[in-house]
Amino acid sequence: MQSFSVFVRRPVSSLTSVSASGRLRTLSRHFSTTRLAMAPISKETDLLVIGGGSGGLGAARTASGKYGVKAMIVEAARLGGTCVNVGCVPKKVTFNAAAIAETIHQAKSYGFSLQETAPFDWSTFKTKRDAYIKRLNGIYERNLANDKVEYVHGWAKLTSPNSAEITLDDGTKTVVNAKKIVIANGGRPTIPPQIPGSELGINSDGFFDIATLPKKVALVGAGYIAVEFAGMFNALGVETHLFIRYDTFLRSFDPMIQETVTKEYEKLGVHVHKRSSISNAKKDVSTGKLTLDFKEGDGQGSISDVDHLIWAIGRTPQTDNVGIETTGVKLNEKGHIIVDQYQNTNVENIYALGDVVGNVELTPVALAAGRRLAHRLFGPEEFKTMHLDYTNIPSVVFAHPEVGSIGLTEPQAVEKYGRENLKIYKTNFTAMYYAMMEAEEKGPTAYKLICAGPEEKVVGLHILGLGSGEMLQGFGVAVKMGATKADFDNCVAIHPTSAEELVTLR
Ligand SMILES: Cc1cc2nc3c(=O)[nH]c(=O)nc-3n(C[C@H](O)[C@H](O)[C@H](O)COP(=O)(O)OP(=O)(O)OC[C@H]3O[C@@H](n4cnc5c(N)ncnc54)[C@H](O)[C@@H]3O)c2cc1C
Repeated sequence: MQSFSVFVRRPVSSLTSVSASGRLRTLSRHFSTTRLAMAPISKETDLLVIGGGSGGLGAARTASGKYGVKAMIVEAARLGGTCVNVGCVPKKVTFNAAAIAETIHQAKSYGFSLQETAPFDWSTFKTKRDAYIKRLNGIYERNLANDKVEYVHGWAKLTSPNSAEITLDDGTKTVVNAKKIVIANGGRPTIPPQIPGSELGINSDGFFDIATLPKKVALVGAGYIAVEFAGMFNALGVETHLFIRYDTFLRSFDPMIQETVTKEYEKLGVHVHKRSSISNAKKDVSTGKLTLDFKEGDGQGSISDVDHLIWAIGRTPQTDNVGIETTGVKLNEKGHIIVDQYQNTNVENIYALGDVVGNVELTPVALAAGRRLAHRLFGPEEFKTMHLDYTNIPSVVFAHPEVGSIGLTEPQAVEKYGRENLKIYKTNFTAMYYAMMEAEEKGPTAYKLICAGPEEKVVGLHILGLGSGEMLQGFGVAVKMGATKADFDNCVAIHPTSAEELVTLR
């Protein structure tokens, strides 16, 4: 049965009563689309997809739109999931604002005379950014309708290996039986450590609620989310403190990236507190500002007048309070659902993908896994072994400068191939863009190619510098195809670019 609905916007916080789990509360304080009047939802479906994020949408739309499968998708918050609402999309828009701030700053080196007559208008920016996201939510909803996926706004809780109870926005509950179930309910920001006042902080979801340009912020975390947020704040003129546990951040990346970008952040004025942890947070009730006490190395410190403390210390899979235990589906010690390369769980006809399986937590990964799963389950015979290959997935950090990475880091390559079987090509230089600038304004550019075996197959490519995000996609195709150093060299350089250095490495 295809549902028809009238929708209205209202804060999701008013929905919290429908979820005994309290999960909606943590999902977001953002707006959701709520059914006012609707056809009853189907009680039987061929494919039930839990989670309307990148992975769930990919699976449901492919199954229904391409193969005519009767599919239902259940989403508790907003369509598009983390990426569209509190992740990639609003983050990149904010990064663009920060990049413009940098360009304005740098323009005088090229002879422009720019006078900023007012500070960056964060509130106008936020209003426009929110409106853009709202438009995207609408587009996602129309796409589902076009592909004839039954969209239900509510909270799904598994009740058996082939059924789930869905709590709708008005509190009514319906049990839906499904031949196949895809669990694609993503993750949520990890709860901060139990230190006094930790609850005064916000998480990455809260970052997108900040209504006015702060003067001073403190971020905790060394992963890409903390690093991206810190870079953006700093570029927008906010006094930025970044608390990390070790001496560098981005620790899953190649050491060249960790060291160069950490150093550059310090040069740009980010207060990077190394080997540190926050020990206490308290709020001045008259100003609303925070004072943070922290340990740093062997010493201690304190900063006051902090507008926001932002915990960005990782993400936790959304596998509690969703009835997984009623299905027998196995989780690993971190709470991620265990799947094989085909996204099969240990229970027949239950599949899982995206952040909830915690393999590579990126939007295109979730989307590709969802689409491939639907092709495999419902497509023609030649698709029966289709699955996502999780090797050589490119990833980018929208840091200052941008970072791009595909394949093995140098330590991983040494472990896999042995140092004697590797040839590492490296370069660092100043991009031509900076030629007109003073030394202190020049940003770093550094590239590394890791090649293995006598044929010098490229098994790792790591880049940082202007435009790295856009550059990586093309080089990613080459690496994925198994390119060798000779293939790189055979491609004639494009001059003058930074990227040409990657095909002329000696
Ligand atoms: C700040 C930030 C920046 C990021 N930047 C990037 C980036 O630049 N590039 C990139 O590729 N990735 C980025 N990511 C990661 C990316 O957002 C995720 O990898 C991606 O969204 C995962 O998709 P998913 O479908 O697995 O889960 P999600 O997108 O999280 O979707 C899961 C959905 O399931 C819903 N849900 C959960 N439980 C239930 C339930 N029981 N019933 C109904 N609905 C439920 C949730 O409300 C959610 O909408 C970023 C993430 C964050 C937090």
